[in-house]
Amino acid sequence: MFVAMNKRGKRISLLESFSLKELQEMKGSEHFYCQSCGEEVIMKLGQSVAWHFAHKAAGDCPNQHEPETRTHLTGKSKLYHWLKTNGVKAEVEYYLPAIQRRPDLYLPERVPPLAIEFQCATIGYEQLKARSDSLAAEGIRVCWLFGSHRLKKLAPNLFKLSAMELATLQEMATHSERTYFLRYFSPTKKLFCFLQLLFPLTSTQFIGIEHSQPDSHINLKEFLTPSFHSPVYLSWKRHWLRQKKHWRTKVLPKFSPLERYLFTICARRRHVFSSYPAYIGLPIASSIAIATPPYLWQMWIITHFVNRGKGAYFTLEEIERGFQKMVLQRYFQLHLMLRFQPIRQALTDYLLLLSRVGLITPLSGDSYRINQSIEWKNLDLETLLKKDQKLLDLLYAF
Ligand SMILES: [Zn+2]
Repeated sequence: MFVAMNKRGKRISLLESFSLKELQEMKGSEHFYCQSCGEEVIMKLGQSVAWHFAHKAAGDCPNQHEPETRTHLTGKSKLYHWLKTNGVKAEVEYYLPAIQRRPDLYLPERVPPLAIEFQCATIGYEQLKARSDSLAAEGIRVCWLFGSHRLKKLAPNLFKLSAMELATLQEMATHSERTYFLRYFSPTKKLFCFLQLLFPLTSTQFIGIEHSQPDSHINLKEFLTPSFHSPVYLSWKRHWLRQKKHWRTKVLPKFSPLERYLFTICARRRHVFSSYPAYIGLPIASSIAIATPPYLWQMWIITHFVNRGKGAYFTLEEIERGFQKMVLQRYFQLHLMLRFQPIRQALTDYLLLLSRVGLITPLSGDSYRINQSIEWKNLDLETLLKKDQKLLDLLYAF
């Protein structure tokens, strides 16, 4: 940490412009104490890590929630100077006694005040929520910023996200769709990276776009509400089709309980499970909170509601109620998210695509009319994958 108190209760921040000589003198003549636990801390004036205070033994402080790594220390210092350069009043490790927390950076002049948490280590959902809730209870907004070493890129446009990142996904207002994004920061490169997420591919893999900017090119407003340049999608359809092939060729012994459940329904109706129509398993950006693979919850909608035959009806509310039941019965899984994400939007967006392919027609209110019976033909894999690709090209222009 960069901030400690002296015996007289004065706050000393090592990010202020002290010279090494001044600090050495202070170190020789004074004692320093942790703001939150009151234990004595040591001033470290080494050359390899930014000057900082440390508890006498690591893990001594009951209020320090993660180990102070070099990346975390450097990041806080770089962010502090970046804010200062941009004329933003910021406090590093500002101690909030009422909640016994000290957010990495605290911006008291913003309305509401803002805390920036530079998160490098993995913490559990409960801890994440407790931190977020206690700051919110003080009327403080919290912005999560992750260390860039946490960004797991599997291929161009394909990323793996941990539960912690997923929980903090932030909604972004675009004119057409509901999308989500995350922020990362590399202290050594002084680079911000915004990961705009388009849609979930599996429960941990996401198709998205990364956009990096040096800290000198970006101000606080752009950091908080980043705008995205016309995105470049290199290969998302390839990732999607490969995943669809994987789903279509999965073998029975490897089926999850939900797959077995849907398989049984298909078998009863003499549908070959793996031969499902191309409109089952479509990318839906707003389904970010649904951890169940897209093709499964979509197959459930088709086999339970859209199968009623030409001229029949169903409502969105029916699907919503059924979906909740499937969650309660643990057939469907949702991600834990700090801001609750209703699934209604995901369901509506999927139904919109079904109406674009002519399968259903939305009526007034939340009801839909079925225009044709489901064609669930037994076709060879190659033909199925061609149909999958054709539909992607039709529905997604980018
Ligand atoms: Zn302490």
